[in-house]
Amino acid sequence: MELITTIADARRRLDTARTSGAQVGLVPTMGALHDGHLSLVDAARDACDVVAMSIFVNPLQFGAGEDLDAYPRDLDRDLALADEHGVDLVFAPTVEEMYASPTLTSVVVPELASTMEGASRPTHFAGVATVVAKLFNIAGPCRAYFGEKDFQQLVIVRRMAADLSFPVEVVGCPIVREPDGLARSSRNVYLSPEERAAAPVLHRALERGRDAIESGGRDAGMVAAAMAGLVTSEPLAQLDYAEVVDPVTLARPDRLEGEVRLLVAARFGRPRLLDNLGVLVPEQG
Ligand code: AMP
Repeated sequence: MELITTIADARRRLDTARTSGAQVGLVPTMGALHDGHLSLVDAARDACDVVAMSIFVNPLQFGAGEDLDAYPRDLDRDLALADEHGVDLVFAPTVEEMYASPTLTSVVVPELASTMEGASRPTHFAGVATVVAKLFNIAGPCRAYFGEKDFQQLVIVRRMAADLSFPVEVVGCPIVREPDGLARSSRNVYLSPEERAAAPVLHRALERGRDAIESGGRDAGMVAAAMAGLVTSEPLAQLDYAEVVDPVTLARPDRLEGEVRLLVAARFGRPRLLDNLGVLVPEQG
């Protein structure tokens, strides 16, 4: 496995691969790798000839006062894991390499970025969309792999790639969870033992929302309230939002039908954790 730290070298390496007919899969990450990230690598490995992973803690997607400096970083461990899982090259640039001059251009998808995560983190998705557009331009992947864990991000990246005609298929991969239901996240390391024990309430809230729909609930507000009620019953959780949305437009339907996505976010002490679940609303006869 190769470690590449400059944009020019990444381009050269991947241009050569493409010229020889290889299909390039890209797995963008911020490092601190866990089984969630590695599931994206496995999916890329199955479908592509060359698997490139980026490891870059992108300052543009952190707001003032967020955990940019404290974000967990361990490049040596990440490289060993990437190698074990068959990654061909890791692109791990410095901030100075990625943003050599002040970034005056920003990629924004305002209609999808103002609610949920975007309401709490107003500059976050512009930072994500901008760095992902740069990574697509640098790596030229034919497929790029993102986790459903960050569902709003996946929807925004997919839309950005389609709107800007990037020749890339954005592939969404299922959420990898701990045995008790907690979604794997690099930020789980911040949880105290008590917060860690409380955190699976997010997944239970989603299951409660799904159960409400499966037992006939069609009022989105009532389903959202059922999820919110369970999260707020946990003293260590501070609810941010509980929502039921359309999985493509992220609009909030009144009456539920077809496919919907349930999303929750809450703070447990310092870390803010997210989770979501897709539900196919049963047809009522
Ligand atoms: P991050 O390093 O947090 O930016 O995540 C990099 C990619 O891994 C994103 O596409 C995430 O959605 C994905 N990811 C993170 N955690 C999980 C998980 N538990 N299951 C599946 N994908 C995940």
